[in-house]
Amino acid sequence: LQSKLPDVGVSIFTQMTLLAQETGAINLAQGFPDYDPPRELLEALARHALTPGHHQYAPMPGLPRLREAIAAQVARLHADAPAPDPATEITITAGATEALYAVLSAVVRPGDEVLVFEPAYDLYGPAIRLQGGVPRYVRLPAPHFRPDWDAVRRVVSPRTRLVLVNTPHNPSGAVFTADDWHELARLLDGTDALVLSDEVYEHLVFDGTPRMSARQHPALRERSFVLSSFGKSYHATGWKVGYCIAPPALTTEVRRVHQFLTFAVSTPTQHALADALQGDASDAHARGLAGFYQQKRDEFRALLAGAGWDLLPVPGGYFQLARYEALSPASDLAFAQFLARDKGVAVVPVSAFYHDGFDDGLIRFCFAKESATLQAAAARLRQ
Ligand code: PMP
Ligand code: GLN
Repeated sequence: LQSKLPDVGVSIFTQMTLLAQETGAINLAQGFPDYDPPRELLEALARHALTPGHHQYAPMPGLPRLREAIAAQVARLHADAPAPDPATEITITAGATEALYAVLSAVVRPGDEVLVFEPAYDLYGPAIRLQGGVPRYVRLPAPHFRPDWDAVRRVVSPRTRLVLVNTPHNPSGAVFTADDWHELARLLDGTDALVLSDEVYEHLVFDGTPRMSARQHPALRERSFVLSSFGKSYHATGWKVGYCIAPPALTTEVRRVHQFLTFAVSTPTQHALADALQGDASDAHARGLAGFYQQKRDEFRALLAGAGWDLLPVPGGYFQLARYEALSPASDLAFAQFLARDKGVAVVPVSAFYHDGFDDGLIRFCFAKESATLQAAAARLRQ
């Protein structure tokens, strides 16, 4: 068989997790918490797992009560935007991963161009290419990883079918500002290009930085697919439940693909999440995530301070980028392998987030970890 993705190997996250298992290194590579979802959510799952009748296919677009709960919470948290209609604008997917794939399959035709900011989450490029699409990359410069809108303008053309944005951004944590959204809206005005806004880290925005979704910009809302993930919002990456919010005509197209991709998502899990998303407690949880992760960020930065790492600013998300040029002249991949094998800490080399392997001398740590894990990792890294 001739591979459709001959240049793609096992993802860097899987590679580094395997290396961590092999070497006994502390895994700060793959992005996942080493703590469990809130107790109430686990109890809800147990309850629904024991409820007769909750074990067959959920409705294709998702359980109505989960979609209604999402619509209500989105309306409460983004009071300046109209609530999404749960019947026609919200689709529950198997993680944001499935939503990304469903949107790209629904929208991108052979030869269509998709604008992608780099560094970029590893699935974007291959998933675009599998549709016959052509990723057009625009580099975000360290240390702030802010888009240069003049550079973006030079890449957008009538062939641009979709602009893929990710805010807060993996791996840098950069957060789109109101100006960025405005520039994007201006750029797309008069075109029929769509926006895929990957907002899986939506609640993880620090230091009082205003958080804003594509849905809050009226001109963008009409042309955007907005994705989120309960993996991130409830420390439940293994549950693989996410969702896509988009205007009805766009949602129709996403569902055409979703119904043949997974058809529907795990029923008891959706029930448990619908319970968790009710009212004040769920808003308090969502609003509390920023403080919870900001504290982890600050703790991890303090633990590494003065040890030769140049720690880049982290406005959002749960990753810390670090420049290591004062510690080693190695490539980022060689340095990441050295850290796992010789220091006992697994990290991700940021070159994995560039289609051409661009190596800017940066590695990524995931700080979604218990204090004890962060302390143990920092002690190893300081040696
Ligand atoms: N987008 C980004 C930017 C991510 O970091 C991740 C998870 N690592 C995903 C999408 C996938 O989310 P999920 O686990 O819900 O499929
Ligand atoms: N999103 C996670 C990360 O950036 C990894 C998810 C995966 O392994 N596919 O680390």
